[in-house]
Amino acid sequence: MSASASDCLFCRIVAGEIPATIVHSDDRTVAFRDINPQAPTHVLVVPREHHPNAAALAAEAPELLVEVMRAGAAVAEREGVAASGYRLLFNTGADAGQTVFHAHLHVIGGERLGGMAQVG
Ligand code: 5GP
Ligand code: ZN
Repeated sequence: MSASASDCLFCRIVAGEIPATIVHSDDRTVAFRDINPQAPTHVLVVPREHHPNAAALAAEAPELLVEVMRAGAAVAEREGVAASGYRLLFNTGADAGQTVFHAHLHVIGGERLGGMAQVG
């Protein structure tokens, strides 16, 4: 998969072409607040590199998937939800409601979360 895609929303956020509230940034990942939060804390962690979904990311760059998970845990710590608990979620494909086809980890928390199939 290409390193970036000019028509990809999250590639454009990573490139700084579209504004977002960045909460974490390192050499391989960027995290920013979801524009339509589903809970008090709702952050998206993306690899800087373009991969269309988590399964492709796992197949194409497994060590980068680990970096995304590590960044998600760091975000949860910084947001103050690590002790109370949080959900890490990858929507993959139509039935999951995936709308942006650049792999992104949802970090959701800050309140008691509802049934797993209702979040996202
Ligand atoms: P998906 O449903 O693909 O797993 O999640 C995509 C997420 O991206 C949604 O939760 C949606 O609210 C969020 N989103 C869509 N467009 C934007 C945007 O332009 N900026 C930000 N920060 N989040 C976005
Ligand atoms: Zn992309």
